[in-house]
Amino acid sequence: MSEEVKPESVSLYSVSAAATPEQEAVCIFGTGDLGRSLGQRLLQSGYRLVYGSRRPHICGPIPPGAQVMSHEIAARSASLVFVCVHREHYDFLETLAPHLKGKVLVDVSNNLKKNMYPEANAEFLQRLIPGAHVVKAFNTLSAWALQNGPSDANRQVYLCGNSPEAKQAVAEIATKLGFNVQDRGSLSAARELEDFPLQLFPEWRLPMRLTIGLTAFFFFYLLARDVIFAYVDQGKDNSFRIMVSLANKVFPIVSLILLSLCYLPGVIAAFLQLYRGTKYKRFPDWLDRWMLCRKQLGLIALALASLHVLYTLIIPIRYYVRFRLAANTISQIKENKTFVFDTTMGWRTDSYYSMGILGFGLYLLLGIASLPSVSNALSWREFSFIQSKLGYLTLFFCTFHTYLYGWDKFLFISYYKWYTPPGYMLCLVVPSVVLLLKLLLLLPCVDKSLTRIRQGWERTDPEDDSKKSLLAKDCQKL
Ligand code: NAP
Repeated sequence: MSEEVKPESVSLYSVSAAATPEQEAVCIFGTGDLGRSLGQRLLQSGYRLVYGSRRPHICGPIPPGAQVMSHEIAARSASLVFVCVHREHYDFLETLAPHLKGKVLVDVSNNLKKNMYPEANAEFLQRLIPGAHVVKAFNTLSAWALQNGPSDANRQVYLCGNSPEAKQAVAEIATKLGFNVQDRGSLSAARELEDFPLQLFPEWRLPMRLTIGLTAFFFFYLLARDVIFAYVDQGKDNSFRIMVSLANKVFPIVSLILLSLCYLPGVIAAFLQLYRGTKYKRFPDWLDRWMLCRKQLGLIALALASLHVLYTLIIPIRYYVRFRLAANTISQIKENKTFVFDTTMGWRTDSYYSMGILGFGLYLLLGIASLPSVSNALSWREFSFIQSKLGYLTLFFCTFHTYLYGWDKFLFISYYKWYTPPGYMLCLVVPSVVLLLKLLLLLPCVDKSLTRIRQGWERTDPEDDSKKSLLAKDCQKL
């Protein structure tokens, strides 16, 4: 920092390296974290930068090339001012109102909680300085992100304001800094922008709750059947099964249900469109919300399926399994008899594993295709082929894998401990229903009607008998 401290203006850089006169000047109020990072980027993008600070001569480290002045002088030297100060300290701006008249004020502030104040910070700022043109922008970027420059994941700058010219000026700066600009309308949208950084995985909430609920239900269900039943009925302590056996049952069960829940809303939506005879009526809110979290449901399902794979891979090295194998061999030797190879069992287990491997392979493909960097590189047709067609195939393989696991156990009453079906039987209900409904939708007459509806056809007069049901007509034709 310069040794010589002037009362109102401090240059923090040698004259030779300072900005040239033709450079556009931008002002930042506040030399804190965001002010510094933003200033650094502005300087790198060729702007002349002046800071307005309460204490121009003793403020913290400033990017080389910037000047620090009192708020008043700094405000006079630029037509655009970034207010990098917390809302709680905005009062000082009131005294600067005459100097800020006609200028563009960029409000970057955020709050600690939603609805902390009756009005948005940017609206409050506009009320304080009615003569300025307030634009809300840059608040969704962190100081860290600004310092590191725009990246794929953090390239968006949202802005809103009442003056189109002011928004244009801010948009130009954001674009020059390497960001994509999204105009969210007038200043009344400021609260929405201020709420953005306070969001906590909103789209993951429903899938997470569902996962926790299903996991807890199946854990206690299987605990009762596999551990408590054995203890009550035979006095056997099977509690060690909780760690691997139970986990390896709960995870695939929940995974399969979640995967089928990714596809169930699409099927329900299709039947709703067929019933209504139009695609132009809004779906109920619950269905909309459900459809919006399908990606998250799928990713959690994939994570649980991966755990199932890992747990399955360690089966051969488990003490319990090795003990059972050894005990079996010893008993054969003792009794001097050999178990014959059961070809049906060979087929059953191999098909069961094969279906599981194919299902998991496709599961991985679905997960990879949902990554933004991959999905952005796919055409709409490629994306829907993978997520829809291959998605149903994944569901089919995984469901079939579970049916093969069950084999003929469905028929024996001994498997219904305390009159309850095994977990894998319960978890087959939803995927089987989804696959059955999908099969119905694939029937040529149904598929034809649905395609027409999705291309914009509408059943105009549902009362008219002659036009009864498009579905019925198409079915008759066939
Ligand atoms: P900060 O590090 O605390 O800096 C705030 C600056 O405001 C101080 O350095 C100070 O600068 C000035 N200031 C403090 N008290 C003041 C007062 N009573 N009157 C006038 N000026 C005062 O905060 P920040 O992290 O840079 O955040 C600044 C604003 O950006 C906040 O509204 C925040 O919500 C928003 N924001 C921050 C981030 C982030 O990642 N940090 C991200 C998005 C939005 P001088 O000493 O130079 O006067």
